[in-house]
Amino acid sequence: MNGVRIDDLPVRDELRGKSPYGAPQLDVPVRLNTNENPYPLPEPLVERIAERVREAARNLNRYPDRDAVELRTQLAKYLTDTSGHEVGVANVWAANGSNEVIQQLLQTFGGPGRTAIGFEPSYSMHGLIARGTGTGWISGPRGDDFTIDLAAARKAIAENQPDVVFVTTPNNPTGNAVPPETVLALYEAAQAAKPSMVVVDEAYIEFSHGDSLLPLLEGRPHLVVSRTMSKAFGAAGLRLGYLAAHPAVVDAVQLVRLPYHLSAVTQATALAALEHTDTLLGYVEQLKAERDRLVRELRATGYEVVESDANFVQFGRFEDAHTAWRQILDHGVLVRDNGIPGWLRVSAGTPEENDAFLDAVRALKKEQS
Ligand code: PMP
Repeated sequence: MNGVRIDDLPVRDELRGKSPYGAPQLDVPVRLNTNENPYPLPEPLVERIAERVREAARNLNRYPDRDAVELRTQLAKYLTDTSGHEVGVANVWAANGSNEVIQQLLQTFGGPGRTAIGFEPSYSMHGLIARGTGTGWISGPRGDDFTIDLAAARKAIAENQPDVVFVTTPNNPTGNAVPPETVLALYEAAQAAKPSMVVVDEAYIEFSHGDSLLPLLEGRPHLVVSRTMSKAFGAAGLRLGYLAAHPAVVDAVQLVRLPYHLSAVTQATALAALEHTDTLLGYVEQLKAERDRLVRELRATGYEVVESDANFVQFGRFEDAHTAWRQILDHGVLVRDNGIPGWLRVSAGTPEENDAFLDAVRALKKEQS
């Protein structure tokens, strides 16, 4: 068995020489590298999950509700309550993390002979899932300030005629939101080039100063908004992502979803979490305040910071970001090096974790001057 590597196997050509996605999972005191919510679920919610899962366990001899109707109904209610835009069960689809939502969208609307575009730097899994589904990936441009330059983006869409357009707002890893007018203009450009699907990835929208783009779904059947319970709901370990779109889009993704993809345990746990929405959104408010404090303090220390609408902050500039990453790690704080020259990203943690981070970057600044 020894000595056989991936590339010795008859793997697909596009997978040769590639490495799997993943941030380092290091055992350090302060981990601020994967945009997780630092607050564990509150004890009453843990109890409620145990109750709901116990109930579900009694029926584990049966397959789960294949269409996850109760869960989708509650997700639709959450979206309606928080956006003021009426979302119904027929508009919502759920899967194991928004990564799986994105995979199902690319399996449905991308695939061999088709292409998808994203404006980079952005969430690198869009491109990786594209590759995994045989969809060609086009790296669209962003300006030096990490905003989407509309003229350049329109040109890229017109030239490449992609089948799927990704817009991540707030963007990961840079943290800035995309103005609704820009998303609308990109939608129009995408429809003019070829009737393509526009996927707005709102994984971090609950942390934004601005509003969700859900109201834009009205009258736009080629628009999809994707969401997750991994960030605002503090449930990254649950693996629950979902989308809102025209009911025809929900019908279309059912052509590619695996039957019973969402386990009864997942559905029960997500339903319990949704019962505690108000408490969980309370943590979001604390995190937003901490995010704003990080921005202020980093600037006061002399760092450059990209305006953030997410639960993380991109800061710089470093002559050598990877060396800076290592120096911050030497202080016991793990941040993220996304490979963007000059920049690092830190997720907002608890006040104590953020203090430890700020101490580390202040020390770094002193060492450098
Ligand atoms: N979209 C964006 C922009 C993300 O940053 C992430 C997670 N890092 C995801 C989607 C995927 O999240 P999940 O699969 O946990 O829902």
